[in-house]
Amino acid sequence: MIVKPRIRGFICTTAHPLGCAAGVQRQIDAVQAAGPIDAGLDNALVLGCSGGYGLASRIVAGAGCGANTLGVSLEKPPSEKRTASAGWYNNAAFDAAPLGPRAAAIDGDAFADATKAEVVDALKAGFGPIDLLVYSLASPVRLHPRTGVLHRSAIKPLGETLTMKSLNVNQGEVTQVALEPGSEEDTANTVAVMGGEDWEFWIDVLDQAGLLAPGFRTLAFTYLGSELTWPIYWDGTLGQAKADLDRAANAITERLAPIGGSARVASLKGVVTQASSAIPVVSLYMSLLFKVMKEQGVHEGPIEHIHRLFATQLAKGAGPRLDEAGRIRMDDVELSAEIQDEVKRRWSVVTTENLNEFGDLEGYQADFLKIFGFGFEGVDYDADVDPTLGRDIG
Ligand code: NAD
Repeated sequence: MIVKPRIRGFICTTAHPLGCAAGVQRQIDAVQAAGPIDAGLDNALVLGCSGGYGLASRIVAGAGCGANTLGVSLEKPPSEKRTASAGWYNNAAFDAAPLGPRAAAIDGDAFADATKAEVVDALKAGFGPIDLLVYSLASPVRLHPRTGVLHRSAIKPLGETLTMKSLNVNQGEVTQVALEPGSEEDTANTVAVMGGEDWEFWIDVLDQAGLLAPGFRTLAFTYLGSELTWPIYWDGTLGQAKADLDRAANAITERLAPIGGSARVASLKGVVTQASSAIPVVSLYMSLLFKVMKEQGVHEGPIEHIHRLFATQLAKGAGPRLDEAGRIRMDDVELSAEIQDEVKRRWSVVTTENLNEFGDLEGYQADFLKIFGFGFEGVDYDADVDPTLGRDIG
């Protein structure tokens, strides 16, 4: 099969097997070139391991910290005629890389009790207790394991209709969008999907199974962002879910006191991922942000950013840099006055006509295609490839 990108709105329905492998390898190479990090990790569990910040975390833990890594993600397998999800290829590439003692990925719904039980079995059978759990799930839905309710998150502002500039990434057009406010039900659903309850469920299950090592640490990721994105993000339904993560971090830390453990929320930089490309308005903000950060020589992609998180916040001897809510702040560069003043200036004047001058649409689009394995040097995109990677798919 010859695999080309097929883009529908903010998703690409195809993924390139060799391109995804090249993307994983590029990240492994970057981490190995940066040198080892001593974070005292033997075993790390990464939930949402197959893309974006979760994949970067798994790579830094495995290739940078020399940890065994167990990952969980929800994937679409390939068939003879259809490519798999990008994450399926990313997991295959990670597990094939010679990266230290033990690596495995479990394909399943991380919200489900059955998947949690599978992880417990895998840890008991081989890995042993974990030192680190990275909670990096980003999902539009959650089937609640206790109530059976299917919650759908709704990324909406709160209060009044929000009229704001946005970007049609495929057409390169700066537009004005009117976003209806979310209801109480939308907020409750978004909190159920993207809030902290499932993180707490994971800790319960692993703690009860005796699988948290002394001094165990766990991280979940948030986005605080700039004044420009607050109306759609931090002040909207998603912000309510992220505030619930802050609540859960405190509850988990209390629970972990007997083993000297801690839970922290880390506020990360904006990057292009499957999850972030679904958020209205954010694409325009990011294309301006990337241009400004690249001009000032401080831009980071997911792997550079997560490497900095581990090296400066988790490594032995590195004291975490916390805000008043106890969050680790990795968004310090994005939110610095040097960057934000310039992004805000550009935001007020950007139009379709001057987008190339003020924003980095090309970089944004290239990052988006790379998520699905397209645009890597050295990959022959006209060659026939086997979407099943020669596996018996059944
Ligand atoms: P992503 O879309 O790249 O990755 C999401 C991961 O979750 C994938 O591995 C996917 O397979 C997995 N997943 C989704 N539903 C699942 C399920 N039911 N069971 C198992 N796995 C499932 O997303 P991302 O942008 O890396 O987001 C990860 C976290 O980082 C989120 O909490 C997000 O809010 C946060 N964050 C992202 C940004 C950004 O700009 N992308 C910035 C700050 C914080």
